[in-house]
Amino acid sequence: MNIQWYPGHMTKAKRAMKEDVKLVDLVIELVDARAPLASRNPDIDSLAAGKGRVILLNKADLASEKANAVWITYFESQGFQVMKIDARAKATLKQLNALIQEACKEKIERDRRRGILNRPVRAMVVGIPNVGKSTFINKLANRKATVTGNKPGVTKAQQIIRVAKDFELFDTPGVLWPKFEDEHIARNIALLGSIKQDILPLDDLFVYVMTYLTKYYPDLLKERYGLEIDLDDSDWLLKAFDHIAQKRKIKLLRGETDYDRVIQLVFSEIYDGSIGKVTWEDYTCVKD
Ligand code: GDP
Repeated sequence: MNIQWYPGHMTKAKRAMKEDVKLVDLVIELVDARAPLASRNPDIDSLAAGKGRVILLNKADLASEKANAVWITYFESQGFQVMKIDARAKATLKQLNALIQEACKEKIERDRRRGILNRPVRAMVVGIPNVGKSTFINKLANRKATVTGNKPGVTKAQQIIRVAKDFELFDTPGVLWPKFEDEHIARNIALLGSIKQDILPLDDLFVYVMTYLTKYYPDLLKERYGLEIDLDDSDWLLKAFDHIAQKRKIKLLRGETDYDRVIQLVFSEIYDGSIGKVTWEDYTCVKD
């Protein structure tokens, strides 16, 4: 899926979410574990004000284990209930349920004081495009088909799925867009693989990726491409291109290294995760 930049579309989605959120106790926000801040939209905090909050670090299977742990601690320190998941895997409903109960503790207590027992927690899933919302909802609902968009004629009541005895879910996720205007955010989102390649400045991104991996994941470059980069060497970029091209037997183009093919190879391995588990948002920058 490609992220498209339609301001009208976004405004409409935000308005729909504002309405839906009134009907729920809990907002389950999916973020991409490889860039957990860039893949959020800060509007969620005002949209979900007063609701129970859960953050799920999705696609945790593609992110660095060490970084996952740091990000979990970070979001917990911000007062969220947090869990890392792979939305494609068998739903960790039990663990999720514990998190939900904790996030909605006050609501459950309030119900009890009013004599309302066992009213299920109602939740909605929100997140940016491609973060895994439909995969997650379908997994929880135990079904294959994707239900997307607000279907005309389908009432809200019909759009609610009972997932467990004490847990209900809207089958339509709320969509929010990342802040593409911020260049760091746009770059990190680009590295998650959901933006059309042909609109990206791939040459610049390639330099960034190589520098970042050399700094934080040198072992991975060594394992994948047998590559060691010395960033102090003014020729490091050309040498890296030549090295990867040779290693992967990329044919010469008019007697020279085919730079475009090297770039494409590296990005396709980043997007499908075969490069290894990488978190693009520098977790060392997380401070309180
Ligand atoms: P949505 O736009 O937020 O509804 O995202 P989708 O549910 O359509 O997922 C986008 C893509 O990410 C699909 O190709 C999914 O198979 C994939 N995906 C979703 N969750 C995970 C996950 O936890 N790990 C991995 N590796 N891929 C995932």
